[in-house]
Amino acid sequence: MIYDDNNIFAKIINKKLFSEIIMESEHAIAFNDIAPKAPIHILIIPKGKYIKYDDFLNKASKKEVYDFFLLINRLVKTYNLEDTGYRLISNAGNDGNQEVPHLHFHLLAGQNLGKM
Ligand code: AMP
Repeated sequence: MIYDDNNIFAKIINKKLFSEIIMESEHAIAFNDIAPKAPIHILIIPKGKYIKYDDFLNKASKKEVYDFFLLINRLVKTYNLEDTGYRLISNAGNDGNQEVPHLHFHLLAGQNLGKM
């Protein structure tokens, strides 16, 4: 599969589309999901062109991968979620019902999220 340069998250990275950016690092961005499914619903994306998790791990540098997961951990700390908990999800491909073909993790929190 070829990366689609016109996907919504590519436009957010290139600042062609507005988003509520919460936190940014050298290689990643975190912003609010436009249709939140929980009181806290943040999307974390790498700035590089990666379609989904396996694409990211296969192609990105270790620095990019570490930076990405560190940003998620910074969010966990900032929102004090260590004790109350949270859910991390990354939908991939057709069976995962991935809507936007740029890797993203959903960070959901702020209430009991029920069973998966
Ligand atoms: P997924 O089904 O995992 O690909 O999730 C895509 C997510 O992107 C959904 O939760 C959407 O609500 C969210 N989304 C789509 N467009 C935007 C946007 N412009 N800004 C923020 N979130 C968005």
